[in-house]
Amino acid sequence: MNKEILCAPNLRATLAALARESVHRGLNQGSSGNVSVRSRSGFLITPSGQDMAALTAADMVVLDMNGEVLGSGRPSSEWRFHRDIYAAYPEAEAVVHAHSPFAVAMACLRRDIPSFHYMVAMAGGTDIRCADYATFGTQALSDAVLAALQDRRACLMANHGLLAWGANLPAALALANEVEALCGQYLRACQVGEPVLLSTAEMLEVLEKFKEYRSNA
Ligand SMILES: [Zn+2]
Repeated sequence: MNKEILCAPNLRATLAALARESVHRGLNQGSSGNVSVRSRSGFLITPSGQDMAALTAADMVVLDMNGEVLGSGRPSSEWRFHRDIYAAYPEAEAVVHAHSPFAVAMACLRRDIPSFHYMVAMAGGTDIRCADYATFGTQALSDAVLAALQDRRACLMANHGLLAWGANLPAALALANEVEALCGQYLRACQVGEPVLLSTAEMLEVLEKFKEYRSNA
């Protein structure tokens, strides 16, 4: 993990560092994607239409839970699903949304990621769903995302990308990274044949083990 993310003195700087890190990891490019973190008044989110690789603490936009800007700046047009995730999941402290290449490829096929690898359980279930398509920035998209996220911490978004939430920013970024890696692995396996899927019982065993790791962490 980038040291800057873990040691940043305030939330604005921490979020800006994570946005830049998402570019360095190949999850985002240009102004695509957005990241947010919960705050006392609502949440902080990256701005609309700016180069993710060049974002600074001052560029971050503060929103309340109604989506009203507190202070200045124009928030990412996709702030709605960030707000709705914070409202639905009290344990969600950070959200990473990316238009990363393999996740986009899977999302354009509108396919869920099945249990082809045990790491699929990192998102909290036996598969990772692909949310129905809706236009970016709309409440309809947020509703589709929330439906796909039921009992999960990550999902794909049809013809769009991926998103992941976590108990902190590094956890959300790590999960987004994992989902992107899984999409790449699954697509490669599909090029050669039909991947053998783990059974529900095998996945439930993995989910139990992950729960133990988390409670011992
Ligand atoms: Zn997007």
